[in-house]
Amino acid sequence: MTASPAGSEFDLIARIRARAGTRDDVVLGIGDDAALLAMPPGMALVVTADTLNAGVHFFPDVAPADLGWKALAVNLSDLAAMGASPAWCTLSLSLPQADPAWIDGFLDGFCDLAARHGIALVGGDTTRGPLSVSITAMGHVEAGHALRRDGAQVGDEIWVTGTPGDAAAALQSLLSGAAVDRALRARLDRPTPRVEAGRELLGLASACVDISDGLLADLGHLCQRSGVGAQVQLEQLPVSRALAGFRPQLRWAWQAGGGDDYELCFTAAPTRADEVQAALDFAGVPGARIGRIVAGQGVQALDAAGAPWQAPRVGYDHFG
Ligand code: ADP
Ligand code: MG
Repeated sequence: MTASPAGSEFDLIARIRARAGTRDDVVLGIGDDAALLAMPPGMALVVTADTLNAGVHFFPDVAPADLGWKALAVNLSDLAAMGASPAWCTLSLSLPQADPAWIDGFLDGFCDLAARHGIALVGGDTTRGPLSVSITAMGHVEAGHALRRDGAQVGDEIWVTGTPGDAAAALQSLLSGAAVDRALRARLDRPTPRVEAGRELLGLASACVDISDGLLADLGHLCQRSGVGAQVQLEQLPVSRALAGFRPQLRWAWQAGGGDDYELCFTAAPTRADEVQAALDFAGVPGARIGRIVAGQGVQALDAAGAPWQAPRVGYDHFG
């Protein structure tokens, strides 16, 4: 086989293939018309897809390694929210030009995160066009045990992992041209998908969603699917060190309304609280109880005095 010229589509695919990783359950990976994958018995296949477009989801001059990390992270976060174990993914790239250095940088971030979660890249597509990254991630979960959005019960406690709001605060600083706190910037560029926490919450959480659009918005989706309402105590929202100095009214907008956090928001019966805390500790993920599931519909955010608080902006709607 002759080497493909640097910069051609085939050279790019060769670079990707060399770093795709593998697993015992990949019968046939990159290089054929499609991949062949072996499903473990007793497990349900979990599939999710997410696309990141330049100018919509990231700045066109983003560091390629950060983009590679984040494109995979947002998909792993969806698997985490289902309690799934990541296994395989495909990568569809639309690129303005075939730039080998850019692909190598992209793969640095992508493969770093992929290796941490043992997910193998088994195929994809490479085309010329405006910069866009689309990933389909697949995993498995014990059949009948997935974490879903529709299981929340009245009286359940609402939990959240990490410190939501950090990514939104970083984005606002960036957009306003202000200096961006390094810790906040890291949360925006390199979110941590809560895969281990999702796995540990199987059998404990009654419902779960990952936070991509904003805590209240995504909790709202969970409530809608479950046919319940929610009350969130704003003063119980976990605060990162970087946000602790801001006055509550300002940081609540980020914490409750901001997106791009990729934390988990889930519900559990109050009787399971100690087990939930132990599960999060085992996963090495901080978590906090922030409210209750109530009868009715909609999410109410309450301030320290118990007064309803109207978020200035709830979630992100691409077509809003
Ligand atoms: P086809 O024309 O049959 O769709 P391609 O020439 O597009 O095949 O791709 C050849 C092989 O490379 C396939 O196995 C495909 O899955 C893989 N591939 C192409 N682009 C990517 C990519 N961006 N990431 C991972 N695998 C890719
Ligand atoms: Mg083909």
